[in-house]
Amino acid sequence: MVQAPVTLTPKDYKSEVKPTWCPGCGDFGVLNATYRGLAGLKLSPEQTVVVSGIGCSSRFPHFMKTFGIHSVHGRALPVAQGMKMARPDLTIVAVGGDGDFFSIGIGHLIHAALRNIDITAVVMDNEIYGLTKGQTSPTSPHGHVTKSTPYGLQASTFNPIATALTLNVSFVARGYSAKPKELAALIEQGTLHKGFAFIHALSPCPTFFNTFDAWDASVTPIAADHDSSDRMKALALAMDTEKQYMGVFYKEERTTMDQAAHELSLKGKDFDIDKYMSRYA
Ligand code: SF4
Ligand code: MG
Repeated sequence: MVQAPVTLTPKDYKSEVKPTWCPGCGDFGVLNATYRGLAGLKLSPEQTVVVSGIGCSSRFPHFMKTFGIHSVHGRALPVAQGMKMARPDLTIVAVGGDGDFFSIGIGHLIHAALRNIDITAVVMDNEIYGLTKGQTSPTSPHGHVTKSTPYGLQASTFNPIATALTLNVSFVARGYSAKPKELAALIEQGTLHKGFAFIHALSPCPTFFNTFDAWDASVTPIAADHDSSDRMKALALAMDTEKQYMGVFYKEERTTMDQAAHELSLKGKDFDIDKYMSRYA
């Protein structure tokens, strides 16, 4: 992580491109929280990369004055991980929505958890497909009626926090776009964490599924005395779906793949390829 020598403010991360989201979209709150979080860490914008997939929230990199890649559907995590392996000096933030991360991209979430590469993922969850005009997503509630599910959704609902915890993700947190100060603090903590940080950012879509009132009522800060090293206690909070607990559920320091690769590359300097290949002569 490279810190800039001068004082940075949130507006130093804001690009000249104006967000094209609908008025009132929750993603505005997540964007502001990201500006704040990166400014709080005094991260140099030139040393920071924001990577996204496809979806409304994946327009995010255009609105950041950092480097950015608006990549391929569901592939924000592989692009972000590859970049960190090649350039461990950069700070990498992967962003996207519930469709991108939990539907087409779900396989990549599993492997990002196993590798524990030092990147931060901020997933803006509005429980709907916004870009394609309001079909159900993996996090839509059972029974939800849309144009594509006129008799109500007949599938169960994906639980992002419980999944991240059972995959052994090393930093698991939830924030809410309507509470950008708290969300900024989580983005700061997730970025400082050495390893894969997963931040579930509730981010309503007022155009196709307005969950602001429901989340205003159900978002509950995690108690100050919660033991974030206890995965089973974190799981109990995640399974209480009546509430949307907000804060750090779980964190654990363990070896990251980028660090392990760096150490192996140092050892590799003494590797004698001719001696190794002579076995096969
Ligand atoms: Fe935001 Fe929904 Fe509009 Fe997409 S459709 S920009 S998610 S409010
Ligand atoms: Mg969505």
